Amino acid sequence: APSVCAPLSVLGRDVTVPLVTGGEVTYAALDYAASAPALQRVWDDVAAYAPYYGSVHRGAGYLSQLSTDLFENARRTVAAFLDCREDDQLVFTRSTTDSLNLLAAALPAGCQVFVFETEHHASLLPWREAHVTYLDAPRTPAEAVATLERALADRDPHGPALVCVTGASNVTGEIWPVRELAASAHAHGARIVLDAAQLAPHHPVSVQDLDVDWVAFSGHKLYAPFGSGVLAGRADWLRQADPYLAGGGASRKVTRRTDGGVDVEWHETAARHEAGSPNVIGAYAVASACKALTEAGFDTLVAREQHLIDTVRAGLAEVPEVRVLSLFGDDAPRVGVISFVVEGWNSSHFAAALSAEYGIGVRDGLFCAHPLVRTLLGSDPQTQGECGAPEAAPGEKSLNAIRVSFGAGTPDEHVERFVRAVG
Ligand code: PMP
Repeated sequence: APSVCAPLSVLGRDVTVPLVTGGEVTYAALDYAASAPALQRVWDDVAAYAPYYGSVHRGAGYLSQLSTDLFENARRTVAAFLDCREDDQLVFTRSTTDSLNLLAAALPAGCQVFVFETEHHASLLPWREAHVTYLDAPRTPAEAVATLERALADRDPHGPALVCVTGASNVTGEIWPVRELAASAHAHGARIVLDAAQLAPHHPVSVQDLDVDWVAFSGHKLYAPFGSGVLAGRADWLRQADPYLAGGGASRKVTRRTDGGVDVEWHETAARHEAGSPNVIGAYAVASACKALTEAGFDTLVAREQHLIDTVRAGLAEVPEVRVLSLFGDDAPRVGVISFVVEGWNSSHFAAALSAEYGIGVRDGLFCAHPLVRTLLGSDPQTQGECGAPEAAPGEKSLNAIRVSFGAGTPDEHVERFVRAVG
C-alpha cells in the first residue's frame, strides 16, 4: 500500500551502522516508545535560539528578557497543544516520571489512589506512600471501566481520591478508554491523571475533551531531546502542596524571624514547583515539537501510522512462531507500539540479531511494566524475570519480550525491513 504521507524529518535518519554479515546499513530506529529521535525542525529551532539564551526570570538584560519570554511562551504553546482549561497550571518538569512524582507529592491528606497493575512503573510506583488500590488487568476496555467503577463505589466518598491511567500502553500500544474512565472517576468524586507519555506523540490529547484533571508527558518521546517533561492540569492541589523542590524561583518572599528561623512565602503559580534555574531550552524544544506535530496535522499522522501498524501486524501474523502481546485483542485502537515473543527464541538474542544482522534497533525486556508483561506472558508473578534477564529454558514460557515501536519520523523502509527480518 502506498504511504499516506512522508515521514517527518528526524535526526539520525542517515546514520549508518555496521552489520555482522559485512557492509553497513542505514540505522532503523524502531524504539520510539523509549525515546523518539528529535525532529530536525526542533533541532533547528533550538540551534537558532541557542546563541541568544540568557538567564531566565531574573535578569534585566535583553537576552534574559528574551529567554523569559520564550520560556513563558513555551508554556502557553504546550498548554494550547494539550487544550488545557484557562485556569490550569502547566509545570515544566524533567519527564513523565518526574511529573507523576510531583503530583504524588501534591496529593491532599488522606487521598486514595486507584491504579491498574498494567501501568508503566512511572505511573504505578509514585503513589506507594499514599493509600493505593491496585486494580487487576482488564481484558477489554469495558472491563477496565467496570473494574474502576466497582473500586470507586467501595471507597469513602468524602475523602479525596485520584485515578491514574495510561492513555496508550508502552507494551501493547493499546489505547485505553480514558474519557469513560474520567467520567467514572468524576461520578465518584475522584480526580484523574492521564499518563500521556505514549499517547501524546501519536494522537491529539485534549484535556477538556477527555475531561482529565491532569496530564503528564515527556519531551524525549515527543520528538524533542531529553530533559524536559510536562505536568498540566488543575491548579488547586498543586497550589496547596509544598513546593516539589525548595529553592529560588519557587519562593516569593523569604524573611528571617525574630527567633532566628526563616519564613517563606511560596509562589502559587507553576513556579512553585519549578525551583532552581529552569531548563529553558528543553521547554522551548518541547513547544517546538508540539507546534511541528500540530502543523503536520494529527489526522495525517494517525493515518500514516496506522499504515505502519498494519504493515507490522500483517507481517508478524505471517510468522507462526510469533505471538503478539495484547490485553484488548486485535480490534483495539492502538499506537505504533507492538510487543511479541518468538517461540524457540530468547527475546534478548532475537533483538540482538535484529541489530547485528539488519541494523534495526528494538527493545527487549519487561519494558518497566513488570506486572503487565508477566500477565501477558502468563508467567508466575513471582518469577525473577527482570529487564535484560536471561530467557526461559527451552520449552518454558518466555520471561521477557521484544518491542518494536515507531511514529511520525519512521520511513516505510524501516518497518518493511523489520517485517522481512522477522519473517
Ligand atoms: N509512562 C509511560 C506509559 C511510558 O512509556 C514511560 C517511558 N517508557 C514513562 C511513563 C516514563 O517516561 P520517562 O522515562 O520519560 O519519565
